[in-house]
Amino acid sequence: MDLIVSKFGGSSVATSEKIEQIVKIMRLNDSRRCIVLSAPGKAPGFNVKVTDLLIDACARALKNQDFSAPLNDIKNRFISIYEPLGLPKDQLNGILSNLDQRLNSSKENSAKFRDLVVAAGEDINCRIFADYLNIAGIKAQYISPKEAGLIVTAVFGDAQPTSQAAMNLAALKSICADHVVVFPGFFGITEEGDVATFSRGGSDLTGAILAEAIDAAEYENWTDVDGIRSAHPLMVESPAQITALTYREMRELSYIGFNVLHEEAVKPVMRKKIPIRLRNSNNVDNGGTLIVSERLPGERDVAGIASGSGYCSFTLQKFLMNREKGFVRRLLSIFEDMGLSFEHCPSGVDNISVILDQEQLKPETVNTIIRTIGEELNPDDIKTEYGIALVSVVGEGLVRRIGVLSQAAGVLSKAGVNIKMINQGSSEISIIFGIDASDERKAVNALYQEFF
Ligand code: ASP
Repeated sequence: MDLIVSKFGGSSVATSEKIEQIVKIMRLNDSRRCIVLSAPGKAPGFNVKVTDLLIDACARALKNQDFSAPLNDIKNRFISIYEPLGLPKDQLNGILSNLDQRLNSSKENSAKFRDLVVAAGEDINCRIFADYLNIAGIKAQYISPKEAGLIVTAVFGDAQPTSQAAMNLAALKSICADHVVVFPGFFGITEEGDVATFSRGGSDLTGAILAEAIDAAEYENWTDVDGIRSAHPLMVESPAQITALTYREMRELSYIGFNVLHEEAVKPVMRKKIPIRLRNSNNVDNGGTLIVSERLPGERDVAGIASGSGYCSFTLQKFLMNREKGFVRRLLSIFEDMGLSFEHCPSGVDNISVILDQEQLKPETVNTIIRTIGEELNPDDIKTEYGIALVSVVGEGLVRRIGVLSQAAGVLSKAGVNIKMINQGSSEISIIFGIDASDERKAVNALYQEFF
């Protein structure tokens, strides 16, 4: 039987109606037999996510302060969602008492304590949801990451799955044959048996790990948007929805501007070429966006236009730079030694620019960089520029089409946008333009009109 892993995010589990909607979605396709849930997110009347309430309770507990306010808010939240669905209050209180145990456990290692508390949102939600499914007539089983062997590294707050995890989790396949597996997102268990969470939004990663482990036919990720759009709606009015794109295109789009899926969630499914489908739980009729390994025939050459601002550049001029061995390595190691990561490094014969995310820099850092470059590389000139936006035209089809670069550059020039930098990676899947941040909207709109 084909198995689908369906992960529902915080907004899709935020109210009783949303939980009922999940059951409707499950009934539409019997292959949805592995359900991963986040903790309840924001909803009308509830403007704080359960995970954030847990973080608050944890911080108070660590300072030996009274944490009853966030604790009661969390309990009331779960009761408000599940009591109207017919779950007896006693039963709910029984499950929710686990929160008190967690908050009263050892605080000797604060990071360990934090993860144990913060993971409770997903864990409790799944325990209750599995009970609800059984009441609703769907044979379901809550499975904990501990029981299933989702072994992760002991990096609290930013754990990574180990290779052992996928092997252990493969056993879930046989459970899926006669039960719907309900599995909490966002955390795993260390070799020592401690709870360790992934970074924020990490339930996406749990879904991906499970999809890989059980050889799922598809990994569905349900949120409250229809899918990925071909440009950011804050930049372009009603941009078209992308029906299909490749993992690589998605990565390029999410690098600047597109916040689609937890970054690490693509790797496990990519390894086995399992398609990811982003869906809107409020709009089941929309097929969403499908993310696959190979381009589907008939798709556009360009998948989308991404953009982001807040970059700066250091540009060096040095006569005969091209003849100096190790020049670029020495330049980049200056940034590395200062703990700075760079985005792009376009070069000419006698000049080179390093483009960075401006947020990393303090004024004194800039002075140190300029001084060190001067001392170590002795350039003829060095300039810094702030307020740069990067605009990227993304598409697997760029490889097979001649003239996209000139087409895009022509469009930008017609729109009166000055191009400061062009970067086309050797994979030819994106062309990135560096422009003045004040031109970002104009540039994205011009490119969008041209390619869509
Ligand atoms: N609940 C966690 C968060 O808010 C994890 C998740 O929803 O994926 O980040």
